[in-house]
This record gives sequence, C-alpha cells and structure tokens, in this order.
Amino acid sequence: MKKKMSMDARKALTRKIKEHAKALGADLVGIAPMDRFEGAPKQMDPRYIMPQAKSCIAVGFRVLRGSLRGIEEGTFFSNYSSMGYGGITYLFMPLVVMNICRMIEDMGFEALPMGHQSDWRAIDGEGNLRNNFSKPVEPGKPAPDVMVHLRLAAFAAGLGEIGWSKMLLTPQFGPAQRVGLIFTELDLEPDPIYAGPKLCNKCMACVRACPGNAISKTKSIKVTVAGHDLEWGEIDCKACDLAFRGAKYMDDPSKKGYYIEGTENTEPNHISPFYYKPEKLYNAGQAVCGAGGCTRACIVSLEKRNALVKKYEYPFRRKKPWAVDWSGYSELNLSPDGHQGGTSSSLDKPKAKKVAAKTKLGTD
Ligand code: SF4
Ligand code: SF4
Repeated sequence: MKKKMSMDARKALTRKIKEHAKALGADLVGIAPMDRFEGAPKQMDPRYIMPQAKSCIAVGFRVLRGSLRGIEEGTFFSNYSSMGYGGITYLFMPLVVMNICRMIEDMGFEALPMGHQSDWRAIDGEGNLRNNFSKPVEPGKPAPDVMVHLRLAAFAAGLGEIGWSKMLLTPQFGPAQRVGLIFTELDLEPDPIYAGPKLCNKCMACVRACPGNAISKTKSIKVTVAGHDLEWGEIDCKACDLAFRGAKYMDDPSKKGYYIEGTENTEPNHISPFYYKPEKLYNAGQAVCGAGGCTRACIVSLEKRNALVKKYEYPFRRKKPWAVDWSGYSELNLSPDGHQGGTSSSLDKPKAKKVAAKTKLGTD
C-alpha cells in the first residue's frame, strides 16, 4: 500500500503541477476535491468516469482580446472562431492538458485529460437524454457519454463565479476563457471556492446585447454546486444556436432564405455580414456573433466597473456597435446551393461563381 503524503509534500507537489501547467501555456489553474461534485446529476458526474479520482484540476485558457477585435470592427470574423474558440478548444487546450497528464502519469497516478468532447454526450443541451443515442452498459450506470459541465467544474475548483449569462467569470479575464479539466487519482491540495469581489452585478448587458435574445432577463436556473447556491438566467439554447451562427428565421415566412445550409427559412441577422453562413473552423468554430452578449458586452460592463484585475492600456469598446442592414435580403434571389465554403479555391468553383453573379453582391 502506498504511503500517505505529508501535508507539506502535497502542497509542494500541487505547486509544482500548477507551475508546470502555467509553463505549458495555462493561464489559470485551480483544484477541486472530487466530493465537490456531490449532488451532480448522474449524467454529469465525473465520478462515474473515474471512480477513484481524488482531484479535478481545472485549467483556464484566456480568449485573447485581440481575437475579438476584428468582430468589434466588423471586418475580420474568422479569428474569434479559430484562434479564440476552435483553436483553443481543439488544439491548444488538448496539448496542455495532455502534457499535464503525462507529468502526473509519470508519477504513477492515472490522469484523464478532458476538453470539449461533448459531441458524444448522452444528454442534449437541455439535459434530457438524447433519443436512441446510447444506453448504460450495465444497471446503475449513466448512459455514455457522461458530460461534465466544464464551467461548473471550474467554479468548483475556485477559478471564478458563474455570471447571469451562465459564463464562468474570472477576476483575470471576465467571461473570456475556455476551460479544460484533468481528473486524477493523485490527491492534490484543493483551492477554496472563489470568494473575491463579486464580478457579476446583474447589469443585464449580456441579455440586451445577445443577438438571439437567448438569455432570459427574468427567468433563472438555480443549482447548488459544492455547497454554494448559484443562479443564472435561463438560456434558450436553440435561440443561441441560431443566433451565434449569425442567423434568424425569415422575417417574412412566405419568403425563402438559405443562410444556413440545408434550411429554407433562415437569413442573416444584424450581426452577420455574410450572405450565407461560412464554414466551420476547427470542427465547431462558427461563432459569427463573436459572443456579442455573453462575452463582449460583459467585458465592457466589467471594465467600466474596473472589476478585472488584468488591465489594458485602452478600453475594449471603442465605438458604438455596428449593425448590418439586411433589408431586402429575401429579394436577392439567393440559391440553396450557394454556400461557398471558406477557402479562396472554393470561390473558384463554377457553382460559387454562378451564385455570386446571381446574388447582386454589389447592391448593399
Ligand atoms: S453582462 Fe452583467 S449580468 Fe451579464 S454576466 Fe456580465 S456582469 Fe453579469
Ligand atoms: S453566443 Fe451569441 S447568441 Fe449565444 S448567448 Fe452568447 S451572445 Fe447570445
């Protein structure tokens, strides 16, 4: 049987792992003991994934403010979806969390790296089991895949609080970070739950600026995590799913619009400059809205209140937000097969050329 580590040795080892994580590129590192997941819904409880885990390491990766600049200006949209979203989620974060795990496994303890693997999860955005998706492998177990709520795990590990927008707000970056997790059998020194100055003041800037009205101003969800009561605005996931891609349903339902491939009833909303939704970047990156409500408006609010410890030379918001005028969109005679992809070579395809000619691209 392994000898129990002394308190000092545990603290020193925890410090070493945190330093290693930061040297690898993590911006924030916090640790939750596994009993902070007590009360989690079965389908979201990581203890079903690694029953002998003792610690959850939450690792935060900042979304660079510069990644959002092009959308603020209205001139360069792909950067947030790639560098701020898909690139962190599918490239940078996996490399860092896997390398932290390598360090821990070299010490003889299992370590499980976790990022955004939610495509295989058994529950949908509302927490209901997906129809005909998967079944428990034996009685008493949840259906695969269990989905751990990354932001709530980060809260449990002391990284910050949950804002009205349901975003994790940290004193360093506000809502602008992504979270990766490591579950390990190594018993590490836990961090306290965040108890610093309140970050969300319920200003509702996120509600007002969300292009899909996806965040309720009045209805809320209340949960208890690690013995703390949390509350956030009810999120309409379907409304977010449509609006964050820069889409809305046709204002005039008798007209057809093909903004989202495979639909006949979608058109661009006021925050999309695209005639058709551009291709995904890095598998999931298609945040045309640039998180205008839940992230950008929140940064503006936090900055005005001087609530963030990380300071910049110039304010994030430098001018009034723009809005695209799409009046007359349904008269443009667009085609259902006009999606041109994201590369210059695809623009050369005959199909794309034909559509561009048809769409009166110069009229707006
Ligand atoms: S915008 Fe305001 S209400 Fe919304 S999460 Fe940020 S601080 Fe809270
Ligand atoms: S991602 Fe965009 S659409 Fe979704 S909640 Fe945030 S601001 Fe609203």
